Amino acid sequence: SSSSSAPQPNPGGIITQPPPPSTLRESRIATHSHIKGLGLADDGTAMDFSQGFIGQNLAREALGLHLSLLKLGRHSGRPLLLVGPPGTGKTALALALSQELGSKVPFCAMVGSEVYSGEVKKTEVLGSCFRRAIGLRIKETKEVYEGEVTELTPSEAENPLSGYGKTISHVIVGLKTVKGTKQLRLDPSVYEAIQKERVVIGDVIYIEANTGAVKRVGRSDAYASEYDLEAEEYVPLPKGDVHKRKELVQDVTLNDLDMANAKPQGGQDIMSVMGQLVKGGRTEVTDKLRKEINKVVDKYIEQGVAELVPGVLFIDEVHMLDMECFTYLNRALESPLSPYVVLASNRGICTIRGTEYDGILGSSSEGIRSPHGIPIDLLDRCMIVKTSLYKKEEIKRILEMRCKIENIQITGEALDKLAEQGEKTSLRFVLQLLTPSNILNKTKTGATGGGVSMEDIEELNDLFLDAKRSTGILKDLESLENK
Ligand code: ATP
Repeated sequence: SSSSSAPQPNPGGIITQPPPPSTLRESRIATHSHIKGLGLADDGTAMDFSQGFIGQNLAREALGLHLSLLKLGRHSGRPLLLVGPPGTGKTALALALSQELGSKVPFCAMVGSEVYSGEVKKTEVLGSCFRRAIGLRIKETKEVYEGEVTELTPSEAENPLSGYGKTISHVIVGLKTVKGTKQLRLDPSVYEAIQKERVVIGDVIYIEANTGAVKRVGRSDAYASEYDLEAEEYVPLPKGDVHKRKELVQDVTLNDLDMANAKPQGGQDIMSVMGQLVKGGRTEVTDKLRKEINKVVDKYIEQGVAELVPGVLFIDEVHMLDMECFTYLNRALESPLSPYVVLASNRGICTIRGTEYDGILGSSSEGIRSPHGIPIDLLDRCMIVKTSLYKKEEIKRILEMRCKIENIQITGEALDKLAEQGEKTSLRFVLQLLTPSNILNKTKTGATGGGVSMEDIEELNDLFLDAKRSTGILKDLESLENK
């Protein structure tokens, strides 16, 4: 059927506006902000230093091949399993895979132990992570105001309740189109949307007529040179009237839809936004609700209104999952609504959780032991890729890159020392020393210091221990006590 005859998504059906993202997951990804992709050449070989990736060439090439399978639609429920020591880039690899699939492809990272929360069922936690990793691109035709922003003026009014403080009573947005400039007097909620999208004068935007949703679509040519923006962001001034029908594309995840539809709907004012945050954790997303949403999603897909965008679900420390979770995982992988799953573990052979058995009179069985604590049937389906420890030179380059991103000055000597230490302990450990060493340096020398020095690193080493040193100290104590 043609899209014009297909019914449009109905705001009364399901809500397609995403709620604010969870900051917890955002911050987990922030440490990987230098990773932009797998950094592979056209022939699939890993480039020495590309897209933020250094070393780990074999793993990157294996993931590149896996990516080709995914793009051909040949993944058929086969998860990828990354095995290797802590801090060897397993999360970074999974994130890079999702970036290679496209910029709007969702990525959800979780840790196996996350499922053991007192309040929520284990499979429920897994289920919501699965839905965070499945995207939906919804195309909607809506009435919009469209044009280049020439004026943004929030008008303030006295707060009617307290008499103090100002509230925004309305916003004037000047929009220039080919036919001239129009001034729109809009609801205060538009201002929040404008701030969220970081709209500035000279941007070309759409404002949805019904909902006041704002979408920044680019910058006008006239302003292009003033801002250091990517070339593809410049768009010519739209050729239309101010008010017209426009196809809008919105990227949401299934979890966004669950949350938006489970929450009691409030307004855009600050109190209802806060109320939503507090209630957020307690909102029940029931199976029934999910099924209903799936039904509507299926209908949208059938009608060509929406398109499914499978993302990447990364489960670190997969050995922490138990039998019940693995059963759920096996089933979820079979579903047509499944993301690409990447598992990771740094364990060898260990007991599969939930198979230990406490018999009569406290006798207990050891449980089923299996590689990486994963049941054999699931393991059989996995494509396994290993990551290996970094050499000093690689650690040094990764440190250098993070220093640049975090704006940390460091002397060559200190960098060398950290890299050396990283080879003995772990990349993760020395990466975590960067920020504290910078703070230490700043408090000692002020803002004008010559950067993190050898002495700072040594001082920090007196303050913080790596795992090997801390266990060493405890072992020494034990042997003293046993004497
Ligand atoms: P764990 O087993 O503890 O979960 P991990 O193997 O997932 O660890 P990451 O979290 O991916 O390790 O890596 C630790 C840090 O080092 C991250 O900031 C990551 O972006 C960075 N990193 C790891 N490997 C590389 C690499 N090859 N190139 C650039 N950065 C890397």
